Amino acid sequence: MTAASPQASALLFDSAAGPHLFVTDRSRVYGLERGVADELAHRLAAACSAAEADALIAALTGVEQPRVMEQASVQPPPLRTLSLNLAQACNMACGYCYADEGRFGGRARSMPLEVARASVDRLLAESAPGEDLVLGFIGGEPLLNRRVLRATVDYALQAARGAGRRMRFSLTTNATLVDAEDAAFLHEHGFHVSVSLDGAQPGNDLLRPMRDGSGSYRRVLEALETMQRHGRPRHLAARVTVTPRSGELLPILQHHIGLGFDSVGFAAVLTSPDPSLAFDATDFDGFTRQMVACGRQALQELSAGRCFPFGNFETAMQEIHRGSHRPYPCGAGAGYLSVGASGGMYACHRVIDEPAWAMGDVRTGTDAARRARHLTLHQVDRQQPCGSCWARYLCGGGCHHEVQRRGRIACDYIRDWLAFCLSAYTELAAARPDYFSAARQQRAAGADDARANTL
Ligand code: SF4
Ligand code: SF4
Repeated sequence: MTAASPQASALLFDSAAGPHLFVTDRSRVYGLERGVADELAHRLAAACSAAEADALIAALTGVEQPRVMEQASVQPPPLRTLSLNLAQACNMACGYCYADEGRFGGRARSMPLEVARASVDRLLAESAPGEDLVLGFIGGEPLLNRRVLRATVDYALQAARGAGRRMRFSLTTNATLVDAEDAAFLHEHGFHVSVSLDGAQPGNDLLRPMRDGSGSYRRVLEALETMQRHGRPRHLAARVTVTPRSGELLPILQHHIGLGFDSVGFAAVLTSPDPSLAFDATDFDGFTRQMVACGRQALQELSAGRCFPFGNFETAMQEIHRGSHRPYPCGAGAGYLSVGASGGMYACHRVIDEPAWAMGDVRTGTDAARRARHLTLHQVDRQQPCGSCWARYLCGGGCHHEVQRRGRIACDYIRDWLAFCLSAYTELAAARPDYFSAARQQRAAGADDARANTL
């Protein structure tokens, strides 16, 4: 049984742990008696208005009425995370790269130290007093500008200390340039590092060639060995970019976990300069099947008390467990902004140099009016069809960049994946309640960095 209420304020579902009710508002999950679940399913099917459905849910389960989060106007929160586009250039030539190999449609360039320092100052100046801050380094390939990376970390630590603040660091890299000194540096400064790797050698090398056409897999493995020998970052994640040609995902997940990553996550390509590498609406059925196969494996392993760091699954478990109630898909334009090599600030790292997404400059400050407009317009309750989607406060409305370019073509996948995760959550909570307290402790040690890593 899976049934959404007419106004999508709730979802009834069955799992091996019995019938449950998911309430959209604050993403709450309740176990139900079989008789109550059957009666609710029957009467919800006949309910013809939102008010009637809400009253039924309240009468039969005692669960409160849902509320809508939409506000007339949203003021931007203080900054918390900046990502710095250290090198708008890359040493690789991946066919699906949304960033035009880092150049974002312009010429290749590197961020000068003066801009990186101004970014640190801006983050400190526009953040809330006492808040821990995150500085992310991205590209293109940020290690092409490692001199500025290292000098910026030194400067940020000094500036943060002077201001009585804590600054943490993340790096998103293709890992092909990591040398022994880099590894020691990333280890010493407790970096969260996200490495792009799309599968075992044949699959990865097809999708992720170097500029000379050779494969990147062997170089990434050498980097992993270097990090093992000279210093491991605090958290090492693998990001797998999935195209319609990627093949089966479970073997890729197992392969990457075998390489020793702390977390492995999949992301489907929706926007690509080579259209054959981007998902169409018809590609999502197969993707859903494969993600669920990976999720089932994770559920089995975690239920047995074994480690299985499938990032998409573990993130969903935590979001459901804490009762996620997000009005946006991400922090873009809110606590998170991305800085281009020349110092312009943008809603996020995917829209660098796009005037429509410009939100200030590190030398003069963020553009509060533009951020407020973006946040007001993009509240999930204001989006259509999100306002009537049961998954809205777990999903947040979909990546702004992808929605702008492709529309909401992934919604059925998102809902099917989340419906699977809800039922897996009830089974994992029944089998291993301690999983959630252990994961909470882990999060307390590094949640902010991990979040920055997924940006
Ligand atoms: S983007 Fe799609 S899945 Fe997400 S809230 Fe909107 S309608 Fe629902
Ligand atoms: S979800 Fe999309 S809009 Fe948000 S930070 Fe990521 S790429 Fe940018």
